[in-house]
Amino acid sequence: MRYLRRSAAVAVLVLSGAVAVVVMQQPSTGAPKHELKGPPLQPATAALVREISSRNIERSIRKLVSFGTRHTLSSQTDPNRGIGAAADWLFQEFSRYAAASNGRTTVEKQTFTQPATPPRVPVDTPITNIVATLRGTQPESAERVYVVSGHYDSRCSDPNDAVCDAPGANDDASGVAAVLEAARVMAQRRFDATIVFMAVAGEEQGLFGSTFFAEQAKQQGRNIAGMFTNDIVGSSVGDDGRRDPFSVRLFNEGVPTSETPEQAALRRSIGGENDGPSRQLARYIKEAGENRATRMTVRLIFRRDRFLRGGDQIPFLERGYAAVRFTEPNENFAHQHQDVRVENGVQFGDLIQFVDFDYTARVARVNASALAAIALAPAQPRNARVLTAELTNDTDLTWEPNPEPDLAGYEVVWRETTEPEWTHTIRVGNVTSYTVKGMSKDNFQFGVRAVDRDGNRSPVSFPLPG
Ligand SMILES: [Zn+2]
Repeated sequence: MRYLRRSAAVAVLVLSGAVAVVVMQQPSTGAPKHELKGPPLQPATAALVREISSRNIERSIRKLVSFGTRHTLSSQTDPNRGIGAAADWLFQEFSRYAAASNGRTTVEKQTFTQPATPPRVPVDTPITNIVATLRGTQPESAERVYVVSGHYDSRCSDPNDAVCDAPGANDDASGVAAVLEAARVMAQRRFDATIVFMAVAGEEQGLFGSTFFAEQAKQQGRNIAGMFTNDIVGSSVGDDGRRDPFSVRLFNEGVPTSETPEQAALRRSIGGENDGPSRQLARYIKEAGENRATRMTVRLIFRRDRFLRGGDQIPFLERGYAAVRFTEPNENFAHQHQDVRVENGVQFGDLIQFVDFDYTARVARVNASALAAIALAPAQPRNARVLTAELTNDTDLTWEPNPEPDLAGYEVVWRETTEPEWTHTIRVGNVTSYTVKGMSKDNFQFGVRAVDRDGNRSPVSFPLPG
């Protein structure tokens, strides 16, 4: 069928020269896996994304694996083996990239003592996060922060074995390498909002590094408008041999972990279970991350993390921040949290030979596309409301004006209640209220987003009743 169709198309091409028609015709056997869905990238962002190098990713993963183990309880002082040596190297790498940013990037070792937390932290243990902060250049946006993270600690079969070889090439040198490479290309450029590139430790012992960072941020009242963790982004081949090299999963929760019973009751009463802030962030990343430069499909998974499992996004969710998790499409459990060994002819262990550096580079490009878009864009409109003073079959929306000087206006978006992603956009101008005539809030989901003069769009704000 496909062959016949193509032959017919070629005939049309030869006879009439209707190239565009022919090229746009889709085969009837289903769309390709890397079908393009998002809007075109800003040219500057496309250039940035294309600078992401799989050779640099490979170099970083090889270096991280070379420390033998990066277990949180391993040596802090050995210059060659253990987590201390890995932390020193990461600090140097981030500092090198920061040097290209004209002073806009600061790098710190955020070290704290995790009190003994049996069984996985048997004694008081120092834990170090490496935190590189690329300061936003628009004063109205610089306090708005996006965090992109991976964890550099590793483990074997026994979660408390600090001396075994734990290469952690995929879990999670891959995520750290993606963050480092995003930092390298982004530190050379300017963004309105602030971006934090981070490598945390203590993940395998109980999410301790990310918990410390998120708690500090909460206590300081920082506006973390979104957090992405990259954890296990090193391979597109599952344990059954299935290959999916142009896809990454993005786990995102609908009902916020941090919501109070009163907030949850209100959410249920308006059918907002699919419209929490992390889900809006995930929709945004999908739209920004699927493009010609990444060639990736971002597969949204409407779940906080994999079934009964967790990661560094959770401490952020617990503190009321929007946060999501990137993970490869098909995990291979022989290659994570396993002693390196051969059993019945099967190689176990998180070895570098199972990592696909080109794949990790594509995931890094998805991260960079979304981070660049979101950090150039205005903030999400604040205090979006659906007015409910009187019952009508229109939808009356209001929101607060954005502070950014480059704001162009707003868009109202909508979708059927059963649609996973926003499907329609209405440009409404630089206003703070809009009535969608003849479309009832009972029948659709609505949202509002801000747009700047360069066409950068914010994530969607989901309106509450007002
Ligand atoms: Zn992990």
